[in-house]
Amino acid sequence: MKIKVCGLKQPENIAAVAALGANYLGFICYGRSPRYIGALPVEVLAAIPASIHKTGVFVNETAQNINLLIDKYGFDTVQLHGDESPEFSNAFRNKVTVIKAFGVDNEFDFGQLENYANNVDYFMFDTKTSGYGGSGKTFNWDILNNYRLNVPFFLSGGISLDNLDEVKKISHPQFYAVDLNSRFETEPGIKNTDKLEQAFDIIKNKTLQMKYGVNEHGYYGDFGGAYIPEMLYPNVEELRQQYINIINDADFKAEFDDLMKNYVGRPSPLYHAKRYSEKYGANIFFKREDLNHTGSHKINNAIGQILLAKRLGKKRIIAETGAGQHGVATATVCALMGIECVVYMGEIDMARQAPNVSRMKMLGATVMPASSGSKTLKDATNEALRDWIANPVDTHYIIGSVVGPYPYPDMVARFQSIISKETKKQLVEHTGKELPEYVLACVGGGSNAMGMFYHFLDDEQVKLVAVEAAGKGVDSGHSAATTFLGQEGVLHGSRTILMQTPDGQVIEPYSISAGLDYPGIGPQHAHLYKINRAQYVSVTDDEAMQAGLLCSQMEGIIPAIESSHALAQLEKMKFNPSDNVVICLSGRGDKDLDTFIKYFGY
Ligand SMILES: *Cc1c(COP(=O)(O)O)cnc(C)c1O
Repeated sequence: MKIKVCGLKQPENIAAVAALGANYLGFICYGRSPRYIGALPVEVLAAIPASIHKTGVFVNETAQNINLLIDKYGFDTVQLHGDESPEFSNAFRNKVTVIKAFGVDNEFDFGQLENYANNVDYFMFDTKTSGYGGSGKTFNWDILNNYRLNVPFFLSGGISLDNLDEVKKISHPQFYAVDLNSRFETEPGIKNTDKLEQAFDIIKNKTLQMKYGVNEHGYYGDFGGAYIPEMLYPNVEELRQQYINIINDADFKAEFDDLMKNYVGRPSPLYHAKRYSEKYGANIFFKREDLNHTGSHKINNAIGQILLAKRLGKKRIIAETGAGQHGVATATVCALMGIECVVYMGEIDMARQAPNVSRMKMLGATVMPASSGSKTLKDATNEALRDWIANPVDTHYIIGSVVGPYPYPDMVARFQSIISKETKKQLVEHTGKELPEYVLACVGGGSNAMGMFYHFLDDEQVKLVAVEAAGKGVDSGHSAATTFLGQEGVLHGSRTILMQTPDGQVIEPYSISAGLDYPGIGPQHAHLYKINRAQYVSVTDDEAMQAGLLCSQMEGIIPAIESSHALAQLEKMKFNPSDNVVICLSGRGDKDLDTFIKYFGY
């Protein structure tokens, strides 16, 4: 669904709304409206990104004046909001797109639109008033069922945060766009960007839900679901029933946003890497998740889940961790909230990642060694699940990636989606466009990649590239390149793609990077892979280490080895000079210094 924001008139406010990424902005050229643009300088409109349609809104204006203002302001769309005839409307279509608006009430005769069908590009259905729109009131949207022509329409009139849920339920095949106006204002003509941003999220989420998002049964195409022992059912079911309501709650959003800003340090910068851009012949941008508190994207999800746990009344948090990164993020947010924290970790991993064990302890967490099986991540996961079964009422289990039974993959993706949400806005500031040509991210379980892809999924022209760890080579027997080596099966409670033996035993993955050393990918990734919405590639240890060194020495940024995998992929791609390329720098390399030092012999 497209979004039009109408009734703008103040320069700074126009720029702020444009940065949110609407599809249409409307400027009212009707002197009697409190939102009349008056003598708005032409430069203000010229500064709006070309991807946004600039719409002049007229009420019974002369053709001469409309043409004058089209030329003056560079409108590419006109909205005729008075009693203009079909012929009058059609006259502008050789240079602009034409929207013809009608006031609708319960007696509205859709038959009168037939004469317009071949003379306009869109209809707009607004609430019928004595004046010409701007009433802030809705009409009875059921009446839209009587509209049967093939011309797509905008819906206008009183749309607000309170009724967006109703708007989303309208399933008319010609429903093209919503028109947001008076209910998103602080005063006539001045838009409340916070409210608009919330509305954009809700509207765009809807589209995701329909296309690549999870369905109501917890599946992404063939993947997902909740394959759990019966004893876990009550815990997972409680989450499933509550998570959407909690996440969409205004108090939750306010607390999440505040912590993202003041605790995590968001928005993380979108950095234009100039030397990289020169080297690779495109505009290369780094999304700097490495600058977050605790050094990676993992904190975004940990904050989201601890706030959710609080609202579910939980008193205790458990988590599993492989390399310790997710354990540290979880211990951090538990300290922040004063909640007890138990982290399960394989004995071998505890030895390999001793500094992270110390960090968790310093933050007040209890680290419980998992000493069964291979004494690594999957054994830690089993121990955590056992704990959760034993403590269903007071304990929340924080999973660290877009994996696990539904609703975890969707929940974690939503928390991480702040990455692409910010990126879209920042790209408009850097490039004047919301969409890049390429988006790259590394994939372990897939949470930084899903956060980086999320708000671009629907924009099919954006090429998404997910980089897996090939380890010592895809065919070496020491690899974590899941889509290359895996088959469909069930891992950690969801149907996905995983590395397994012919009889279904999980194969131990290998990567020099601890965060990518995972035998599966989240179910949404399995789906994006299978339907080819994203491209899955792999990069070896050696390629990643070289890329980490290059980034350190060319940009002065020591990246995590995980993120270095995404950087290494640049070597294998061909770009046009005008291409905009965004790479998720998921984390900083401080934690990997020992590995870098050993590898390069510094
Ligand atoms: C944990 C981690 C990853 C891998 O996890 P995803 O869920 O695939 O994002 C990637 N980068 C960094 C820095 C990590 O800490």
